[in-house]
Amino acid sequence: MQCLVLGAAAGGGFPQWNCGCSLCVRARAGDPAARPRTQASAAVSADGGQWLIIGASPDMRQQILANDVLAPPPGTRASPVVGVVLISADIDGIAGMLVLREQQRLRVFAPASILKVMAANGVFASLDPALVERVEIAAGVPVETGFGVSLTLLEMPGKIPLYQENRSLAVAEPAITYAAQLESGGKTCIVAPACADVNDAVLRQLSAADLLLFDGTLFTDDEMVQAGVGQKTGKRMGHVSVSGPDGSLARLAKLPARKIFFHINNTNPMLLEDSAERRQVEAAGYEVAFDGMRFSL
Ligand SMILES: [Zn+2]
Repeated sequence: MQCLVLGAAAGGGFPQWNCGCSLCVRARAGDPAARPRTQASAAVSADGGQWLIIGASPDMRQQILANDVLAPPPGTRASPVVGVVLISADIDGIAGMLVLREQQRLRVFAPASILKVMAANGVFASLDPALVERVEIAAGVPVETGFGVSLTLLEMPGKIPLYQENRSLAVAEPAITYAAQLESGGKTCIVAPACADVNDAVLRQLSAADLLLFDGTLFTDDEMVQAGVGQKTGKRMGHVSVSGPDGSLARLAKLPARKIFFHINNTNPMLLEDSAERRQVEAAGYEVAFDGMRFSL
């Protein structure tokens, strides 16, 4: 199985259009230690010919254009992108579907809750049902995608999409969010861009992975507050932080997988190749994803 990081940043990307934090300033200036990243998405393929995209980021068009393996063979209208797995109804998890509306045959796999959001928003009707097949998937039930990759939806602790929230609440309403487990040729990749708590049930599920792309949104829970760019903590946003006794760095340590942090917010200092936080993460055996990072399992 081949795996490709299409976008390694969290919602907003790196740099974020309206952010002047010290990291975004370095990325905008072309600093080689602060490489820009698009919003989180990954792709997998059993044969290198047909690709499934996991997470429909608003940067979908740019991401497809940036990766030669996703280009249609010359003289065809046949994209190697044959399917999309939707695991979040957040805008940065579904908006990219609108990019895929050019009369392209596709299979879309998503839980009922996300299909409902798409059905309720008329703009997604631009994806002609005669060409874009919606396949409802349920957590814990493996599905054959038809492209040599088996897919299982995993439940993760999280929260509901921001636009569905009661904004007066100070704490996030707990809700289920999802990860995608992809298997081919006896190898397993898990894509988990959002996880609020690395509890024992999460660890059990992630132990199946040979390759794990995991929520690296914030390094410390209050870093957006400290950077002066927002009021929200990681806990409020439904993302466990990397550092700390209950952080992902400590909690995922014993997993056998090759562990890659992705979905990284533009305030997270581990984005910077010359930071102490990057050295700490790498010394602990983790890697920090970048756009175009590729794996062969
Ligand atoms: Zn920033």
